[in-house]
Amino acid sequence: MTFSNEAIPSGSSIRRQSRRVLVQNGARQVWVGGDAPIVIQSMTNTDTADVIGTAIQVKELARAGSEMVRITVNNAEAAAAVPLIREQLDRMEVDVPLVGDFHYNGHTLLRDFPECARTLSKYRINPGNVGQGAKRDSQFAQMIEIAAQYDKPVRIGVNWGSLDQSLLARIMDENAARALPWTAQAVMYEALITSAIENAVRAEEIGLARDKIILSCKVSGVQDLIAVYRELARRCDYPLHLGLTEAGMGSKGIVASTAALSVLLQEGIGDTIRISLTPEPGGDRTKEVIVGQEILQTMGLRKFTPMVIACPGCGRTTSTTFQELADNIQTYLRESMPEWKKSYPGVEGMNVAVMGCIVNGPGESKHANIGISLPGTGESPAAPVFVDGQKVVTLRGEKIVEEFQAIVLEYVQRKYGRETVQG
Ligand code: SF4
Repeated sequence: MTFSNEAIPSGSSIRRQSRRVLVQNGARQVWVGGDAPIVIQSMTNTDTADVIGTAIQVKELARAGSEMVRITVNNAEAAAAVPLIREQLDRMEVDVPLVGDFHYNGHTLLRDFPECARTLSKYRINPGNVGQGAKRDSQFAQMIEIAAQYDKPVRIGVNWGSLDQSLLARIMDENAARALPWTAQAVMYEALITSAIENAVRAEEIGLARDKIILSCKVSGVQDLIAVYRELARRCDYPLHLGLTEAGMGSKGIVASTAALSVLLQEGIGDTIRISLTPEPGGDRTKEVIVGQEILQTMGLRKFTPMVIACPGCGRTTSTTFQELADNIQTYLRESMPEWKKSYPGVEGMNVAVMGCIVNGPGESKHANIGISLPGTGESPAAPVFVDGQKVVTLRGEKIVEEFQAIVLEYVQRKYGRETVQG
């Protein structure tokens, strides 16, 4: 058997070709779709009316790497707060675009709070939550007209928890008339996809430019999401926002999101992603940003932060030293990135290996930019350090963590700082 690069899909080489949509806040431009990098986004869980609390969380999400942040705009107080949040972010020098999430009353909020409409960089409209009956069409039209007036892109975000019931009833009627009716599951898929595409076409008819529209069809089942997005991707060329809705808490939420998104991303489907994790009580909202980055980076689709390669440990290492070192280095690298990415371009591609013993330690360390092989049980208390494949020093004693961190920093400054000067 032979291997070649051509035989291994790289993801980017098979990216679905979509239109490009510009999401903008002043000079900050975020392109979604086409050949633009897949965009990471997230959503606050603060009360939007709490200007300072929301601005602080937006800043935290942006600092973690969120390239757009969505905030709910659910009432008059929230709509009035939006320009104040933007002002506060500007004072904190946070230029991340803000996306407004509208349900039920978006048409009145956007009309009654023009500064909110003007300040937001993008609107998310759920066509299942814009009103009932005759009001539905006019309220949807009002929001789209305001988006067109302010030149804002819109995500038409369908969610199967709030699917337009009249559209579902229509599709069920059409199905009942078939000689061989589809399954209930297939009918649901069709209703989701039809809702997204029909509303996008309607938005264009109302006056929103085609390159201002992003679509999503979120469901909470992994196989359902894969099936729906494959078909949605086949039927249109709007950029797609990808995410498993209500993914859940802890490892289940991470695993389910990763399973679903990985399949689609590998097929080139998805232009922006959000990982909808339920935080633990008091948990850190930035976790969803980190998980999104790690999905893209481990798949080789983008690079955000240096990766730590660490062995799982086993009976050969009974101390927690190497676990602590791996955790320390991972945290150090991530916390350094907001500054490093300005000063040390390319550092996000660096690999650091932290290994528990000599079985795989030296070998894995030689493959990384920097690696350390800690002593396993019964091994001599010495930790060889490898830089670009060469053993450069052996660390001993109580200060291994600090000394290894210093070696990493020196390497970053030397390797990536020099590139800055040359570049
Ligand atoms: S490198 Fe050593 S400690 Fe780590 S898993 Fe392999 S044998 Fe165990």
